[in-house]
Amino acid sequence: MKLTVLGNYGPYPKAGGACSGFLVDSGDAKILLDCGNGVLSRLQQYIDIQELDAVILSHLHSDHMGDVMILRYAANILMLKRQMDSPIKVYAPADPLEEFERLRFNSSIELIEIQPTAKLTISSLNIRFKEVQHGCKNYAISVEHGGRRFVYSGDTNSVDELAEFSRGADLLLCEAGLLERDEKQIRAMHLTAKEAGGIAAAAGVKRLLLTHFQPDMKLESYIKEASSVYNGIMEFAGENKSYFI
Ligand SMILES: [Zn+2]
Ligand SMILES: [Zn+2]
Repeated sequence: MKLTVLGNYGPYPKAGGACSGFLVDSGDAKILLDCGNGVLSRLQQYIDIQELDAVILSHLHSDHMGDVMILRYAANILMLKRQMDSPIKVYAPADPLEEFERLRFNSSIELIEIQPTAKLTISSLNIRFKEVQHGCKNYAISVEHGGRRFVYSGDTNSVDELAEFSRGADLLLCEAGLLERDEKQIRAMHLTAKEAGGIAAAAGVKRLLLTHFQPDMKLESYIKEASSVYNGIMEFAGENKSYFI
């Protein structure tokens, strides 16, 4: 399957950048993991909106779901023009409930609460969820296709739970929202790049992609920190770059 990075910043992008959004294409299924601000524009550089089989949101912070608000307009217009005949499925945690309910938009969006204990199958993709700690309910997402598997962390500061869930994965797409030098009080909600590297090492993943970068930071700083504890294949998730898993 092909993983294309549409946006890699958080909680806001630098000029010309976008926040979290990742297109997964297995040939018979196209899904979008997270839909932060700037992602809808980038998505259409690769596929038509009608081709999307589902959008799956790790959590309901705006840097991961802001463009769903705009996607709703697109879906509505496309259905009115009969250029799309079924609603776009959006899977999300129903917590905070107020944010979840804001995603509803007539019959052009089918809003579905993520059931973390159930396996979700979308064509050839098998998807599982694991709740990991963040400022609101956040699911790490495992996507498997043809015996290959990758895990996306969403936003979290859970080290052990994410390592367990990622064990043996071919690729871990992991947030590294912080560096070790960041103030402790803002560390409550995110992983440092070093922690992300530690998770990849503990889980024995074959490849690590770092994401969720602060807009004013040099990306090399994240790699330097993570590589102090992980010596597998690693790079930062490059905007508009595709990775084959
Ligand atoms: Zn975020
Ligand atoms: Zn968040």
